[in-house]
Amino acid sequence: MRITAIDAEEHEEVYRVEDAEAGLKGFIAVHSTRLGPAAGGLRMRVYRCDDEALRDVLNLSRGMTFKNAAADLPLGGGKAVIIGDPSHDKTPAILRAMGRAIGQLEGRYWTAEDMGMTPDDMAVIAAETPFVAGLAGGDFASGDPSPVTALGVFNAVRRATRHRLGYDSLYGLTVSVQGLGNVGRHLAQLVHGDGAHLVVTDIDPARVAAAIAEWGAEAAAEDDIYKTGADIFAPCAIGGVLNAETIPQLRARVVVGAANNQLATPADGDRMAQRGILYAPDFVANGGGIINVAAEILKVADRPSWVASKLTALDATMEAILVAARTEGVSPNAVAERIVAERMSRAAA
Ligand code: NAD
Repeated sequence: MRITAIDAEEHEEVYRVEDAEAGLKGFIAVHSTRLGPAAGGLRMRVYRCDDEALRDVLNLSRGMTFKNAAADLPLGGGKAVIIGDPSHDKTPAILRAMGRAIGQLEGRYWTAEDMGMTPDDMAVIAAETPFVAGLAGGDFASGDPSPVTALGVFNAVRRATRHRLGYDSLYGLTVSVQGLGNVGRHLAQLVHGDGAHLVVTDIDPARVAAAIAEWGAEAAAEDDIYKTGADIFAPCAIGGVLNAETIPQLRARVVVGAANNQLATPADGDRMAQRGILYAPDFVANGGGIINVAAEILKVADRPSWVASKLTALDATMEAILVAARTEGVSPNAVAERIVAERMSRAAA
């Protein structure tokens, strides 16, 4: 396994990770350790080229700095990616090689699940390094963070709906969900339980079929999900989906989802606001998962009550962001970034 430092201006440390024998190619990025050791998941997916994977890890690790600060955790921002298709290319050898690379950072970066990873994969990595969370078993193990992520997103959906549409529950409203994976399907369950009608899409037809069977969801084609008549749109698949092409198509008045980096560019936040769409910042809405993971990293004794209190605090932060955005006439994203900057500068003082 070879780990090579790369120069990246805004980040504290970035590495290319390669192991030809294992078939591993990937990156680890530590954006900031100002608030504590960097923490953020390991993602495995197909990328068109190495540069696309590097851009992804840089953006995601920066996003983790924001997410951890917004959730008021004593953790910095980091992320790792493996280039490859998790359903065909993932092997114990690849995971172990990535585990050895993470170990070389000696605790400046902690990993956990992200797209393409499971608690079982984290157990394989744990054979090589202690700096891994999201494990299914063992002391302080927190397991799959996705249900907690979904609960945090659900809270944010209800907050934003109250602000933009004036309703206290989702009863009778329509929610469109893009991506029915680990988080999306838990969110769909919660939204359905609150009385909403579902419109769903996924590139995996079996997941769409399951949502139709289980919740009476309506299916939308992949590219049509933006223009459905849903009141609320929940992006729960990939980043960059709110962009110059999709925003003009949106009919939803509220956008809240689990996906990281939903805005393709900062200007897209303004585009949303100009169209009267309330966009709840992703790095606040989807902080539930890292809260759950943090309980394991920080070795919290009573995880369920600690996680519940942190989720309540996150919900209060979202409320404060939405109130300030309305009062000041600025986007919720701008307010959320300001809160993060304040928390970071307090830590630096
Ligand atoms: P996942 O891989 O389990 O699910 C993603 C789903 O999206 C899959 O069903 C996939 O088929 C589908 N998909 C992919 N591309 C699509 C497209 N173009 N259109 C429609 N569907 C598409 O991932 P996940 O763990 O559910 O995470 C979803 C998103 O939330 C990711 O962006 C992830 O980074 C983010 N997130 C996840 C967590 C967590 O706890 N898992 C926490 C915070 C943020």
